[in-house]
Amino acid sequence: MPLHIQTPLIDSDAFSTPDQRVRLKLECLQPSGSFKLRGVGHACEVHAARGARRFLSSSGGNAGLAVAHAGHRLGLPVLVVVPESTLEWPKTLIRRLNAEVIVHGKSWTEANEHLMSLKRPADAFIHPFDDPLLWEGHATMIAEAAVQGPKPQAVVLSVGGGGLMSGVLQGMHSVGWEDVPLIAVETVGADSLNASIAAGQLVTLDAITSFATSLGARRVSDAAFQWTFAHEVVSTTVTDAQAIHACLELAREHRLIVEPACGAALAPVLGRSAPALKVATDVLVIVCGGVCTTYDDLKKLECQSTVS
Ligand SMILES: *Cc1c(COP(=O)(O)O)cnc(C)c1O
Repeated sequence: MPLHIQTPLIDSDAFSTPDQRVRLKLECLQPSGSFKLRGVGHACEVHAARGARRFLSSSGGNAGLAVAHAGHRLGLPVLVVVPESTLEWPKTLIRRLNAEVIVHGKSWTEANEHLMSLKRPADAFIHPFDDPLLWEGHATMIAEAAVQGPKPQAVVLSVGGGGLMSGVLQGMHSVGWEDVPLIAVETVGADSLNASIAAGQLVTLDAITSFATSLGARRVSDAAFQWTFAHEVVSTTVTDAQAIHACLELAREHRLIVEPACGAALAPVLGRSAPALKVATDVLVIVCGGVCTTYDDLKKLECQSTVS
């Protein structure tokens, strides 16, 4: 039995138009609140079968929470080391699953180094986005979607480090969707894939300046970048304000709360901005979820992003 659940694929009457059917794959309904449980759950199960005694993560967000969830379910301890900048709410959720949370250092790099210094031989480190086991787990959402609904003319998702993208593309190629364009959305200030495509090589951003912290990988994985040569990937950016607006539309129309990192994927659909989206009669949006923003946070961010 996998640790993730089958999620609904719903027709969105609210976001569809007479010329375009929009379907939402509701990964926000995974028990850990995001798609991450698919890949992380799969990786943890494989490591446990190979004899791992403990799971390690340096994510203070949805990846760390998914590791905590997997460890809890598999009956193995979890250690998460996060930098001082990590929000209280995800730390609370991670601790609630009996995972040990250590706060160390100013940056993710410092936290990760500290975690590695604590690593014991039977520990399994679970990467947030760059591991074939994760992609295998994420790919299951497409295997499900292919049974639940028709073949779409575009798939839309958001990109942080590119783990979701790599898994979804792997899934698309195994169900015969290799000719369906992938609209890969990032927020301005977290647009490491977009910058890499523009430069023709992997680019490391100097800093993350977007509110969509779950998209905040300064550099995407090499695997994600390589996919842009093997599949039609349309890289698109949206502003934080557009991503937050999309979150509030999703809350109003479908009664679902997600992070700006997820709203980002909905924003070009609502704005009907990307050219590849203009011609698609059937669009599949991965509603990847995220638990790090509450509804109140979204309302506050809405004010901040319209002022600045
Ligand atoms: C992790 C995450 C992303 C980005 O996924 P990557 O695999 O890093 O590209 C997007 N949205 C949410 C809510 C996430 O937790």
